[in-house]
Amino acid sequence: MDVKHVEHDLTTTLLDEEQIQRRLVALAAEIERDYEGKDLLLVGVLKGAVMVMADLSRALNRHVEMDWMAVSSYGSGTTSSGVVRILKDLDTDISRRHVLIAEDIIDTGLTLSWLVANLESRGPASVSICTLLRKPDAQRMSVDVRYVGFDIPNEFVVGYGLDYNGRYRNLRSICTLAPHVYG
Ligand code: 5GP
Repeated sequence: MDVKHVEHDLTTTLLDEEQIQRRLVALAAEIERDYEGKDLLLVGVLKGAVMVMADLSRALNRHVEMDWMAVSSYGSGTTSSGVVRILKDLDTDISRRHVLIAEDIIDTGLTLSWLVANLESRGPASVSICTLLRKPDAQRMSVDVRYVGFDIPNEFVVGYGLDYNGRYRNLRSICTLAPHVYG
């Protein structure tokens, strides 16, 4: 879906399709270099990371495997609860594997620091994080984010996998939501 179809729900376009794709290609090149000669398992966090996973994995000119987890940390509101639950676990045994978590956004970092600790307890060779978006609060968290697409302001954004109440995930761009939509 293009911005013009939901123009009244949005205030600004932070990142358009082309900016997102260009950044993912650059990140993929870094990842290729860093993991040369190593097997790589991309772990996507459903549902937000679907678009990142699809585009990042296709930008990687090497073999990768993909697996998915679903965790819940947010409910349907716009603020982080800090409560993380596994709704769907990995199908893959990650012991001695190099795992790269593909994420859409890091806000407080609560979800990811919990996820990293959880995956590290399974004996992988390494666990790293690649996120397309990072909000300012995430800088204070203890887990190390190896690959960051864009640092964005502390506003609620939708599009490119990110939803509000289940909607806007199929928006091509990343936009801020007008207050009247969630107000
Ligand atoms: P954290 O635990 O880092 O605070 O939150 C992580 C999760 O919260 C993300 O995976 C995402 O699902 C949700 N989230 C955080 N910020 C936003 C945002 O601006 N927009 C949307 N749609 N979801 C967000």
